[in-house]
Amino acid sequence: MSTDYRPMWKELGLDLDAHDALLGVLGPLYQQTFMTQPNRPDGMKYFDFVMSEVHGLRIQELVEARKAGRKVVGAFCTFVPEEIVLALDGILVGLCAGAEFATGEAEKHLPRNTCALIKGAFGFALARVCPYVSASDVIVGENTCDGKKKSYEIFRDLVPRLHVMDIPQVKSPEGRALMRAEFARFVAFLEQITGRDMNVESLKRGIAAVNAKRAAMHRLARLRAADPAPISGLDGLLMNQVYFYDDPARFTGSVNAICDELEQRIARQEGVVRKGTPRILVSGCPMAVPNWKLPSIIEGTGAVIVGEESCVGERGTQALTDDTGRTVDELLDAIVDRYLKIDCAIFTPNDSRVEHILAMAGSLKADGVVHYGLQFCSPYQIEAGPVEKRLEKEGLPTLRIDTDYGQEDVGQIRTRVEAFIERLRG
Ligand code: SF4
Ligand code: SF4
Repeated sequence: MSTDYRPMWKELGLDLDAHDALLGVLGPLYQQTFMTQPNRPDGMKYFDFVMSEVHGLRIQELVEARKAGRKVVGAFCTFVPEEIVLALDGILVGLCAGAEFATGEAEKHLPRNTCALIKGAFGFALARVCPYVSASDVIVGENTCDGKKKSYEIFRDLVPRLHVMDIPQVKSPEGRALMRAEFARFVAFLEQITGRDMNVESLKRGIAAVNAKRAAMHRLARLRAADPAPISGLDGLLMNQVYFYDDPARFTGSVNAICDELEQRIARQEGVVRKGTPRILVSGCPMAVPNWKLPSIIEGTGAVIVGEESCVGERGTQALTDDTGRTVDELLDAIVDRYLKIDCAIFTPNDSRVEHILAMAGSLKADGVVHYGLQFCSPYQIEAGPVEKRLEKEGLPTLRIDTDYGQEDVGQIRTRVEAFIERLRG
């Protein structure tokens, strides 16, 4: 970062020393994880720039937008409909929680056996190191897993404003009606805080912006099916992570620019690895910035990740919203239909998820699946067993890794991943 953002961070109420300590770890980690990869597409320079300015320029944009009267909405989950936020001239930003920070402080509020994602969210808020939390006018919590649902009761006191959205657990007509009512309540809430009214044109604009962003990610996913892989899994994941922070139109343009470049690479049969390199589909819990541990290990063993069945990945970006409705109600119905397709493990049953994994593995020509479960995440860790059984039955080798944000188990995971890649090679 070339500009001195410290006055802005101070004004946002950050703890400057703790924030310096965080950036002191993140910068070198990024360099070591991403900048050492060979033969990256040129277009990744944009994402390197975004990441180098993730606490700088992007936050400055949010601060300026707020001064101009726009509202910033922070969210932890892919169930929060960005279309609605954009339709009311708001800006949606993801709150990452992909690293350990102030875990001791977080554990004063939460049991130790809470997943790292929730503890990370508390740690970042308590330590005052996340400018996205500080720059948000409101944070949306969602009643998804029990951990999040109960922790929002405590989190409410740590942030200026929290709006909790109930999310159904069953994809039934009643579940759909609940989501529809909750999205309508979200519209009313945002109308009240923005002083704007939702109308057909603004909602169509919101849908178009998010559909364009998702369509660009679908295009990227199709290109990652090529062998040799034209882009690394780490860079693919990074784009999925930046999806949650960047200005939607600028992000869409940047992804499409990379896709143009990847098409040329594919035409030249050029890749980041050799043709025939073992291809892995990662499936499971979301990997928020800067959670790059497992992909680094997998690609460090000589395999390549070709897709992410994850909320920071295809589970989050799948399916476009039908934009043909002629009234706000019809468009809201279409938004609900789209969000109900998310195969999150909080749903019971959640059979469509394993079908989605199989379909992704087929279209991406994956040789195997690495299932990633965050420790103490009951929904995904419990679902991992039946998922593994079904994938193996379909002839898709599967490795289950349960881990957290710590580095203590890196050696042990590497050994297991190496053995798995050997199995795929055999
Ligand atoms: S895994 Fe489920 S609860 Fe977590 S971000 Fe995704 S949709 Fe939300
Ligand atoms: S990783 Fe699992 S336990 Fe943690 S917030 Fe997501 S769904 Fe809940």
